[in-house]
Amino acid sequence: MSNRTLTILDTQIDVEYSDPSLWSEGALGRAYILESKIIINDTLKDDLKLLTLIHEVTHLISNLQGVELDETQVTALSHGFYSFIKNNLEILNEDLHKVLLSSEDLQQA
Ligand SMILES: [Zn+2]
Repeated sequence: MSNRTLTILDTQIDVEYSDPSLWSEGALGRAYILESKIIINDTLKDDLKLLTLIHEVTHLISNLQGVELDETQVTALSHGFYSFIKNNLEILNEDLHKVLLSSEDLQQA
């Protein structure tokens, strides 16, 4: 997976995939709240990289929304969202298409 920039709640988040020996031996990922940056262990399998990305994004959302979730809550929610997205991608994709189309209609009206 390649480095990318995500937009979450109007905030640009830089996501970087790199070897954890450079930043934290054995870690899966890390969220840097002040820098709006996430680092993911590039040596993980793709499914674990995605789960870790959702976990770190959940940390950032928790901070951006001012709810201060603890590690257990972040882990529970990120596993739930990973399962929700992975097992319902087709339905979500259809619904998202409808939402995007209708919001374009609203902008034109
Ligand atoms: Zn965490």
